[in-house]
Amino acid sequence: MSSALKIGLVGFGKIARDQHLPAIARTEGAELVAVASRHGEAPGVRNYKDVEAMLAAEPGLDAVAMCQPPQFRYEAARDALAAGKHVFLEKPPGATVAEVEALIALAQVKGVTLFASWHSRYAAAVAPARDWIAGRAIRKMQITWKEDVRHWHPGQTWIWQAGGFGVFDPGINALSILTAIVGEPIRLCAAELEVPANCQAPIAAQLALKTAAEVPIAAEFDFRQTGPQSWDIRVEADDGELLLSEGGNKLSIDGAAQPVPAECEYPAMYRHFVDLVRAGRSDVDLRPLRLVADAFLCGRFQPTDPFVE
Ligand code: NAP
Repeated sequence: MSSALKIGLVGFGKIARDQHLPAIARTEGAELVAVASRHGEAPGVRNYKDVEAMLAAEPGLDAVAMCQPPQFRYEAARDALAAGKHVFLEKPPGATVAEVEALIALAQVKGVTLFASWHSRYAAAVAPARDWIAGRAIRKMQITWKEDVRHWHPGQTWIWQAGGFGVFDPGINALSILTAIVGEPIRLCAAELEVPANCQAPIAAQLALKTAAEVPIAAEFDFRQTGPQSWDIRVEADDGELLLSEGGNKLSIDGAAQPVPAECEYPAMYRHFVDLVRAGRSDVDLRPLRLVADAFLCGRFQPTDPFVE
């Protein structure tokens, strides 16, 4: 493919406006030509009310980026793949594991690219952290992912509904980093999920995980954090300690800050997407979603105070 990949985007919410539009604009070989949104209108492109209308009116589209919440993504992604379009999925790639597996199978049949993006894996310090871990015997790991839902997710009622993931919406970012930096299978051993009395999804969760070598990993996710926010992964090895902070964008080793490149998660993901399409490949890693699904499968549910925004 020599001309630019013509992209349509579905779900013109916060992440589409803040990250996808500027990242596509920066990516050589990618061009945003259309948006499907029930409410919004993107400037400088053709706008449609939904994905069906966009696919019908835009036979020249090469790819579709899905930026709606996970509960409302499967049918749109299926229709785009069935129409022969390459598909970029925001994280988490779906509301269930099986629906994403169905998309993988359809992409194979249609001979198109499916990319399940995990933006936190592209954070600046993730690759150096993976390299540091690779040469070491790890003793234990601690994930602390605590943020103020009222600040970061105002008005996002979908997050509290069934399939909205609750605190796992940010928590799955930590699990996407964890599964990228640890070079062996990780399993969920136990989970406690605190669910507000008026919601269908947890506001806090504690997970106990283990690597195949039985290294313990504790994870604490909480949406009720006011004051300083924490997106940290601490790794204790036989010969030192690593701290990945700010969602994977800062690194310190034995307390000393390490130089890392500038943050550029979304441009790096669009570069990867264009390269996948050119190479005729897909990239769908379900491990973070499976760990969340397992927490819902075997976790203990604790009712807690109603959530009022
Ligand atoms: P958002 O601001 O609530 O926007 C989501 C958009 O999806 C809405 O503006 C709406 O777009 C569409 N939508 C909402 N409900 C829908 C429904 N019932 N049916 C069809 N479309 C619906 O949410 P967001 O923060 O952008 O998050 C969207 C996805 O991106 C989530 O999976 C989230 O995990 C991921 N993400 C978010 C962030 C972040 O910082 N916010 C960061 C990384 C990834 P229209 O009105 O245009 O139809």
